[in-house]
Amino acid sequence: MSHDTRLKFIIVGASTAGLASAIALKAAGHNVLVLERDPEVGGPSAIPTGGVRLPPNGCKILFDWGLEAEIRADAVVGEGFTVYKYAGKDSNRDYLGTHRWDPELLTEARGDFLQMRHANLLRILYDAALREPSRRQLNGHMSSPTVTIEFDAEVVDADFDACSVTLRSGVVHQGDVLIGADGASGYIRQRLLEEEGDPEDDELDGLTVYSATIPKTLAIADSELRKLYEYPQKNMVTFSVGSNRGAQAFLAGKDEDVVFWVYTPDSVQKGTWKEPAERNIKDVIGSCDPMIERLALLAGPATCVQIKNHYELESWVSKSGKVVVLGEAAHPFPIISLHAYSIAIEDGAFIGKIFSHTRNPARIMEFLHAFQENRKPRCTHIDLSEKQYIDVMALPDGPMQAARDAAMRANEAAGRNVMDAGNLDLQQMWDGMRMVFGYDPADDADEWWVSWGRLRDAATASKGNMADIAECGE
Ligand SMILES: Cc1cc2nc3c(=O)[nH]c(=O)nc-3n(C[C@H](O)[C@H](O)[C@H](O)COP(=O)(O)OP(=O)(O)OC[C@H]3O[C@@H](n4cnc5c(N)ncnc54)[C@H](O)[C@@H]3O)c2cc1C
Repeated sequence: MSHDTRLKFIIVGASTAGLASAIALKAAGHNVLVLERDPEVGGPSAIPTGGVRLPPNGCKILFDWGLEAEIRADAVVGEGFTVYKYAGKDSNRDYLGTHRWDPELLTEARGDFLQMRHANLLRILYDAALREPSRRQLNGHMSSPTVTIEFDAEVVDADFDACSVTLRSGVVHQGDVLIGADGASGYIRQRLLEEEGDPEDDELDGLTVYSATIPKTLAIADSELRKLYEYPQKNMVTFSVGSNRGAQAFLAGKDEDVVFWVYTPDSVQKGTWKEPAERNIKDVIGSCDPMIERLALLAGPATCVQIKNHYELESWVSKSGKVVVLGEAAHPFPIISLHAYSIAIEDGAFIGKIFSHTRNPARIMEFLHAFQENRKPRCTHIDLSEKQYIDVMALPDGPMQAARDAAMRANEAAGRNVMDAGNLDLQQMWDGMRMVFGYDPADDADEWWVSWGRLRDAATASKGNMADIAECGE
């Protein structure tokens, strides 16, 4: 393979999916240009950064990329979760049970449940994308592939046939492949939706999520909230389940600040992750238990984002065969989904791994379709289970909610995990999670290559690129 035949990837969006793709494509030997409209990594610094739960399938990839020490230095290890009723009982908390992650599940999955800060995770990915590759990563190549990341670089136009983008500044960039990692309301996703005709609008779920972060110094000064720092609660996410409501609280990052999320019925507030909400959390919590109330009183500026059922893109690949979307741009999950970060990282790892097998521009369309064929079923499955999960947690009061609570209390009384057997739906949900955490995108991508890509390559290769095939296929 000659060294001047690297493909040039343009990635729109320098968040989780874009940066993970940049890391993986560089490791595959390609040149990457990342364009981000924000002025810095992690979003506007004026907005306090929120929190992230990263399950084993996501951390395993970062560990395999050599980032374990950096990630662990900035994370709280989650050991499970406790579940309470949102509204409490007689002005007290109403405990339903505890779930501890099965150590065997974690060993099998080669990862942990880590709790981090959004901006810190992105900073680690950003640094890794720009780091010089090691000799091992260079894999015998003389020169290293390049990653360039430009901020204040908003893409306002794109030519999918020419594989070029135009920035607000008027600058035009052209590449071999264009990746839209620009999120659920991104420009590239929007253009693909337009290619599919006249898509319906995203549906509102009716719930809005408020997010705030409470500094540890404030939390430990409160006699009740200080309990969040006592083991084992220190390593547990606290879930509160209510009628069309819910909340989560967990410690995140090396500073162990409290990340606090409240799900509230509201289809009016049209907030984003990048601007303060118009209302304070304390004004939207409704009737709740004392812990939620205390957290809400301490919470500073919050963001609020609506939960939406997004229109499903039929094709993640443009008709031109040169443009693909990934991360939230391809499969937007419900807001603060457990899987949003890990699946975006998986997407990046997968696309990098398959493109480690080619530098042939004639095969780009086939490889992008392989990405979609392999990733879409998994993402659709996870999206459905995340929606089901929200539905179960925010069940309106009634017979189903009463059955859920009774099953959880029975598990707790029997000394079982709160999501264990005893209730079929909960068990099914949990089995699905086990399958999700064990997945490895690099194995999946290699399986595609060995079963399909390599054979098609050999069948269609011209004499001129046989040398590439031999080298890439090793
Ligand atoms: C500022 C910010 C803060 C967030 N904080 C949290 C949090 O605390 N907790 C949580 O659970 N989730 C949070 N999220 C959502 C979370 O980032 C995603 O669910 C996850 O990272 C996977 O998304 P992604 O990388 O596919 O897309 P996103 O994270 O949505 O990133 C898309 C990126 O593309 C950029 N972009 C969009 N359009 C253009 C354009 N035309 N030109 C150039 N760049 C463009 C955006 O600025 C953004 O950086 C946040 C998202 C953002 C944008």
